[in-house]
Amino acid sequence: PKVDNPYSGAKVYVNPEWSANARAETGGSRIADQPTGVWLDRTAAINGANGKMGLRAHLDEALEQKGSDELVVQLVIYNLPGRDCAALASNGELGPTEIDKYKTQYIDPIAAILADPKYADLRIVTTVEVDSLPNLVTNAGSRPTATPECDVMKANGNYVKGVGYALNKLGDVANVYNYVDAGHHGWIGWDDNFGPSADVFKQAATAEGASVNDVHGFITNTANFSALKEDHFTINDTVAGKSVRESKWIDWNRYVDEQSFAQAFRDKLVSVGFNSGIGMLIDTSRNGWGGASRPTGPGATTSVDTYVDGGRYDRRLNPGNWCNQSGAGLGERPQAAPATGIDAYVWMKPPGESDGASKEIPNDEGKGFDRMCDPTYEGNPRNNFNMSGALPDAPLSGRWFSAQFQELMRNAYPAL
Ligand code: BGC
Repeated sequence: PKVDNPYSGAKVYVNPEWSANARAETGGSRIADQPTGVWLDRTAAINGANGKMGLRAHLDEALEQKGSDELVVQLVIYNLPGRDCAALASNGELGPTEIDKYKTQYIDPIAAILADPKYADLRIVTTVEVDSLPNLVTNAGSRPTATPECDVMKANGNYVKGVGYALNKLGDVANVYNYVDAGHHGWIGWDDNFGPSADVFKQAATAEGASVNDVHGFITNTANFSALKEDHFTINDTVAGKSVRESKWIDWNRYVDEQSFAQAFRDKLVSVGFNSGIGMLIDTSRNGWGGASRPTGPGATTSVDTYVDGGRYDRRLNPGNWCNQSGAGLGERPQAAPATGIDAYVWMKPPGESDGASKEIPNDEGKGFDRMCDPTYEGNPRNNFNMSGALPDAPLSGRWFSAQFQELMRNAYPAL
């Protein structure tokens, strides 16, 4: 029997491996006991790749941490065929056509472990396939942002089938709570993307035997940097006779921050057929934007640009920048039921783990080199040809990035 909000009244699993990395850093003990997501980012991660804990080891440890309380374990399902079709840093091990391997070698074994009665008293949150389905809307077809790889995934249907299969199989486990990844406001917040993305989520949630009842909610801002709440302007403001929607930063988006987007998108998802009880998670691991450069009031009212740029917390060069953003800080600490429609603020992306290497690094995980992780890169249509804003000297995605971890702590908001 599922509860409405699994985070309510529950502790959340602290990943001992992330915790040890955090604690080994100067000042890291201040956050080392925070819960973070466990990423099953390739088939070998199920049994434990390169000496790391496998899924059973995490769940056994979760039972220890649970004691007689309620406890949520947060898993990230992340291994679709043709993964990361609009970027290279997190390309995966499965080629675009390898949907059968995804089903039988990845999802089925995970579902079998989660269904072990030993784990029946854990509340298992699965966040399903980060940065995948919205690519079929925004990065395919006639869009100027299209990539050949996303065109392939749209045409072969394997993102939709893979997500549907995962939702169906994982949703069969009584104590699994599926949350589908729903991008973030700086991606889905435009009118052209908002409704069509909701439709693609519905399509996936009704594919391969899944139904909307397999979806407990959605997560936004996973591994992204979008500010939770911009306090110094709203989408309805006008300055010097213009709507802030005309500013370069907002650029006709309907949302200025993540929480307002998550709440509105929840309503949209319900309107296309998802259950009215769905809840949202927001990844606040790296969207704090604190430190000395955090604006303390609105920008000058000279123009919409001075107003928005002077007042915004999110100090990226463009909201399409996603890799190891310079200047970012830890955001809200994980917490249950922080706002209407929001089941929890979570740290699904473990802070301190890289988004991608700043130069080419050979590896056996299928990961490529994406120039959005190179601080000298001048951009592409997906970030409106801005500099990448990435930190230098980053390791491969998923690897520990000490300099980033230290900056995230320095710029934490709320401060540590
Ligand atoms: C990487 C994964 C990693 C995850 C969490 C992703 O960008 O591709 O390998 O587990 O980040 O750090």
